[in-house]
Amino acid sequence: LGVEIAALVEENLRLVPDFPMQGVLFRDITPLFANGPAFAELVALLANRYAGKIDMVAGLESRGFILAAPLAAELGIGMIAIRKAGKLPGPVVGVDYALEYGTGRLEVQPASVPKDSRVLVLDDVLATGGTAKAACDLLSQCGAHVVEVAVLMELIDLKGKDKLAEIPFVTAVQVR
Ligand code: AMP
Repeated sequence: LGVEIAALVEENLRLVPDFPMQGVLFRDITPLFANGPAFAELVALLANRYAGKIDMVAGLESRGFILAAPLAAELGIGMIAIRKAGKLPGPVVGVDYALEYGTGRLEVQPASVPKDSRVLVLDDVLATGGTAKAACDLLSQCGAHVVEVAVLMELIDLKGKDKLAEIPFVTAVQVR
């Protein structure tokens, strides 16, 4: 996503050991959202990259929402909320996916996904890639075309990008 976004992420990141469970180093980007000028610059840089190239932006619950909503507003396009099971009123379509322990389920309202629309999938962190892949599958099921998956940070050792296979993927920062 470029050196400017990478700098914003690196300068506004908090590392939290053992959250939400023992052994996980949580990459907390909340300080970036709390830094007004940095957040505004991030949204402007994303808008610059995607202007004219997408019809909708899909945010993955919940930090993906915080990124997707201002980008959608800046571009004057719609935002699609992809949520954990049971949060959206129907009709919804859902997809189950594997988590490190157990399974998860993501849902979307097909009515929020225009047919043949070019959609950007946006989230804070790509870890195993299961969440992003499930989101792409949902959008495809709804007849949309995923232009790219974009995240602020990729945990490269988890090889999430492999799960996305041929779907274009971009990140600002790669960490082990
Ligand atoms: P995954 O499906 O494994 O790629 O997990 C991605 C989702 O979990 C994203 O929505 C992230 O917000 C969150 N996540 C997973 N691992 C981390 C981490 N180490 N730090 C921050 N967020 C994470």
